[in-house]
Amino acid sequence: MISLIHDLHAAAKRRGKPAISLEFFPPKTDEGDRNLFEKTLPALMAIRPDYCSVTYGAGGTTRDKTLQIVERIQRDFDLTTMMHLTCVNATQAELDAVVSDARSRGVKNLLALRGDPPVGAAEWTATEGGFRYSSELVAHLRQLGGFSIGTAGFPEGHIAQAAGREADWEHLADKIQRGADFVVTQLFFDNDDFFRMRDYLASKRGIQVPLIPGLLPVLSRNQTKKFTALCGAALPTAFVAKLDALGDDDAAVTQFGIEYCAAQCEQLIREGVAGIHFYTLNRAHSAAAVVRHLGLDGSDRTDVAVTPAA
Ligand SMILES: Cc1cc2nc3c(=O)[nH]c(=O)nc-3n(C[C@H](O)[C@H](O)[C@H](O)COP(=O)(O)OP(=O)(O)OC[C@H]3O[C@@H](n4cnc5c(N)ncnc54)[C@H](O)[C@@H]3O)c2cc1C
Repeated sequence: MISLIHDLHAAAKRRGKPAISLEFFPPKTDEGDRNLFEKTLPALMAIRPDYCSVTYGAGGTTRDKTLQIVERIQRDFDLTTMMHLTCVNATQAELDAVVSDARSRGVKNLLALRGDPPVGAAEWTATEGGFRYSSELVAHLRQLGGFSIGTAGFPEGHIAQAAGREADWEHLADKIQRGADFVVTQLFFDNDDFFRMRDYLASKRGIQVPLIPGLLPVLSRNQTKKFTALCGAALPTAFVAKLDALGDDDAAVTQFGIEYCAAQCEQLIREGVAGIHFYTLNRAHSAAAVVRHLGLDGSDRTDVAVTPAA
């Protein structure tokens, strides 16, 4: 059954276990589509995720493809799927058309984002007739009604926020107060960054909504360095030393990534997080290994489907 994510978080809280979610991106090729639908998703359904999400390409370039994939995952796997949505290159009327299309195709959950500046543009500028910040999109979606709405959080502060992380967390608090039901974070490798953000939001702004850590079980040294440079996530010194020692041995890096991510999860779960969101990079092995290691593969649950519905 397709659910509202805020209900899934509430159910996970009642179970006393974090909700497990998985992030995918729209493949660029037919082979990528086959890989996602015939290998990755069936393998990950075996760990009984609570929900998944599908990204929206830079500049809104994958709008139709994102929606098709969300619709197909929900139909073929009966898995609640959140559509990411950005304000880039879109007027409010255009966003309304996307949202209306999404609603008519059974989408119940949206991750409201501003998006990054289009390729080649140094700075973000809003489209005329569009939204400037994701908080405006959150408020607009809340007004439209009928969706569970997520927003993005940055435990180290957003890369473009020159006034520092607390200034960014103030804007995050605004997004929540304007109607976001939950926060999914940017990837991070030092849990203390997450705990600092959580404590700030709770103590300074009284924020209670689920803060879901986004974690990447790393797969390769070079890819990890490239991603983190793009999003501004810091790599702890010991973590980099280990990556450098493993070099181009991707199998060894993948195993290290599983162990590091599992250790992050164990501490986050002890601290009571409401869920864990895995950046899967459309691959099943690492997220599945971490979830199994944690004993969160849902084998004790009877309320979720294990196999594709079609
Ligand atoms: C979980 C997650 C999923 C993502 N998925 C996608 C995706 O599918 N597609 C994609 O293109 N990108 C995606 N991104 C990247 C995201 O779009 C970028 O990080 C983007 O630069 C910021 O988006 P935002 O929604 O946080 O923006 P905002 O909340 O609008 O913040 C952007 C910047 O403006 C500042 N700010 C916010 N409000 C104000 C204000 N009122 N006044 C002054 N400054 C303000 C913030 O501090 C920040 O520096 C994702 C990020 C995360 C964490």
